[in-house]
Amino acid sequence: MKDHVMKPLAILILEDEIVNSKLLQGMLEKTFLSISRSDVAKSLSCAFEMMDMFNYDVVLLDLNLPDSKGLETLITFGDKHPDVVKVVVTGEYDDQLGIQTLAHGAQEYLIKGKYDVYTLGKSIQYAVERKRTLDKQANLLEELENVNDELKDFAYIISHDLKAPLRGISTLANWISEDCGDKLGEEGKEQMNLLLTRVERMHDLIEGVLSYSRVGRIKEDLVEINLNKLLPEVIDMIAPPESISVSLDNELPVITAEKTRILQLFQNLISNAVKYMDKPQGKIQIGCDDDGEFWKLKVADNGSGIDKKHFEKIFKIFQTVSASDSYNSTGVGLSVVKKIVEMYGGNVWVESEVGSGSTFFFTFRKIERISEDAQLKTITAY
Ligand code: ADP
Repeated sequence: MKDHVMKPLAILILEDEIVNSKLLQGMLEKTFLSISRSDVAKSLSCAFEMMDMFNYDVVLLDLNLPDSKGLETLITFGDKHPDVVKVVVTGEYDDQLGIQTLAHGAQEYLIKGKYDVYTLGKSIQYAVERKRTLDKQANLLEELENVNDELKDFAYIISHDLKAPLRGISTLANWISEDCGDKLGEEGKEQMNLLLTRVERMHDLIEGVLSYSRVGRIKEDLVEINLNKLLPEVIDMIAPPESISVSLDNELPVITAEKTRILQLFQNLISNAVKYMDKPQGKIQIGCDDDGEFWKLKVADNGSGIDKKHFEKIFKIFQTVSASDSYNSTGVGLSVVKKIVEMYGGNVWVESEVGSGSTFFFTFRKIERISEDAQLKTITAY
């Protein structure tokens, strides 16, 4: 890669003691750096006036000035001039302070009397390079976020707009079936039915993309959710057949999250456990373990089970194991589960044996219970 050539630097020395500023100016002249100008400001307010007059690239900044002390100096300066490279030069030897200045936007930290001409030049050069790299990264991140937002909107808009013509096709096909039933003949009717099934399937897939794109795009308030109360609600909604029992193994935690997402998460896992149940006496068990910083939750069933080779694939969108028509599958449910779990900083995985059943595990980061002032509601399910 080609070396970057540094342009001549305009440097502002922010230092109230004339001996120190003269010394710094003298040393700067002797460095290998190409310097277009170096000026001195004796106070923060004076520095702001000079910043308005000249485009300084670098400021060498003493933290203790007549009109500002300590980290505050760096923070106030940085808020007003985020683009300028900041090298803190201070009399105090304090490692903690050094780290704090870096955390508050300084690119380098120097202690008076502990540097020579060479290290001063190198420190400024590194600080300039570091800032350039950081700015580049910040720009890239911003671009990525924009592209990501556009993609999310794109998926939403496309799928939303596809629904209207699809509805049109479905209506037309129904009319043809009804009005021209006699002319179609058996074979024609069968093909028309096939067409309607395909339209329905496409509708389900589009709905899948919509619900996948809603996760993270539609924001809801974070609320405290008592899972012991939420789960009966979800089970009622799914209404499993009598041959399948659903039980809570142990006390479930209260978590902080968006209610719709958590409903969606359990709904997908439990309805899959019902959908892929192949035993006359189905058993679904929901439980939770304390896993340090996380809760480890599980939804276990004694259904058909999943071959190990599919463990990763099933969490990807539109990926199904069995022929998609046989179970009315779209391959969206688990990808939505994964997206929700990861949005809250957790992981999801499956343990399973073909014929014996599957256990889906996911972790959920514990968050301290929210205080009253945060004005968050506690969900009561009934
Ligand atoms: P869908 O159920 O619509 O196919 P999912 O993303 O929810 O989509 O599931 C992907 C695949 O994972 C399913 O097609 C099925 O083969 C498998 N699967 C998911 N949950 C279970 C389960 N509890 N038992 C057996 N197989 C399952």
